[in-house]
Amino acid sequence: MTIDQYNFNGKKAIVRVDFNVPLDENGHITDDTRIRGALPTLKKILADGGSLIIMSHMGKPKGKVNPKLSLAQIKDAVAKALGTEVKFAEDCAKAEEAAKALKPGEVLLLENLRFHPEEEGKPVGIDKEDPAYDDAKKAMKEAQKEFAKTLASYADVYVNDAFGTAHRRHASTAVIADYFPADAKMLGYLMEKEVNAVDAILSDIKRPFTAIMGGSKVSTKIGIIENLMDKVDNLILCGGMTYTFAKAQGGEVGKSICENDKLNLALDIIKKAKEKGVNLVLAPDCIAADDFSNDANTMVCSVMEIPAEWEGVDAGPKAREDFAAAIRDAKTILWNGPAGVFEFDNFAGGSRAIADAIVEATEKGAFSLVGGGDSVACVNKFGLADKVSYVSTGGGALLEAIEGKVLPGIAAIKG
Ligand code: AMP
Repeated sequence: MTIDQYNFNGKKAIVRVDFNVPLDENGHITDDTRIRGALPTLKKILADGGSLIIMSHMGKPKGKVNPKLSLAQIKDAVAKALGTEVKFAEDCAKAEEAAKALKPGEVLLLENLRFHPEEEGKPVGIDKEDPAYDDAKKAMKEAQKEFAKTLASYADVYVNDAFGTAHRRHASTAVIADYFPADAKMLGYLMEKEVNAVDAILSDIKRPFTAIMGGSKVSTKIGIIENLMDKVDNLILCGGMTYTFAKAQGGEVGKSICENDKLNLALDIIKKAKEKGVNLVLAPDCIAADDFSNDANTMVCSVMEIPAEWEGVDAGPKAREDFAAAIRDAKTILWNGPAGVFEFDNFAGGSRAIADAIVEATEKGAFSLVGGGDSVACVNKFGLADKVSYVSTGGGALLEAIEGKVLPGIAAIKG
């Protein structure tokens, strides 16, 4: 069942969205991208003549009520975005009456799901080493089912539009789907877009395919790097992991970020790339700085010869050329993780060169997917988000999907 096939007229729909928006100290929303992202789904349901029960988490209240993480703070913003009044249920597990009273076109926002530990389904206040932990975990799984069943009882149909939490088997993201028949549960528009974008990268690949993996460490990206190795033509590894590779090959990397326990892993990746015929692109040079600050003194040097008191903070000019050459003519592009400490303007040049080459390739017809927190922040910083094919909203969820893992939130609906 897809959202376009379903007629919500006269139906109550419970929709899991990701309204985990950043708030300032006065509880004002500082970035409403996530609310705007859910609007097509929410508006379609209202336009059909359905009523809406909206549920989300916010932050990490760890199963306890925390007024600073109350969704009441965003009620008015949601009402404004939808152009209609929004009612509020102060306890998401006790909203039967409010849900029952909803008329077509009306909207009810539930309080933060994570005020209840059952949402995440992890036992609280008990250590994993405790002998009673396994029993507590079993009991919590049962409680989670009851909680999901309660949420499900509010509505006729379930829609999941929260890609950011699709990699979690939580009550509202996956367990709840068990309480709806196959023709009354579906993905929302945002989820469909994310799933299609991942599909374009994983199954419908136009070649050459170039993946750019950056960020601080190789250890956190190894699963994806290994998975991509079977798919890509060009693999650019940049950012902080550059220096682990340089050191593994006998380089001097000074004070650069370097995972000394991953040197063999780096050599193994180089070997595997050769075996699989993947063009592995590593930076030959870098911008080195004498301090971790925007105003540090800098110089261009080989990644193999960084002086003892200096550290590599961005890709050098030759590296930028090599990266752009592997990106410019690609037909499929995935970018995750910056090429340098892009938060400092003076060290954002390498990431900018990558972003520019991706835009150029996209203009020539490539499909480009940018995802994972920091690379999204990069394209936003450069004002280029509209010039790539797709910017994913999901950090962890996107990476797990690309690693080839089945996301519980999607499996719960698609089977
Ligand atoms: P990750 O969370 O692993 O994707 O890493 C993102 C972070 O990596 C960003 O905050 C960047 O500032 C950081 N980063 C990228 N290149 C370097 C580098 N050469 N040295 C230190 N940090 C870096």
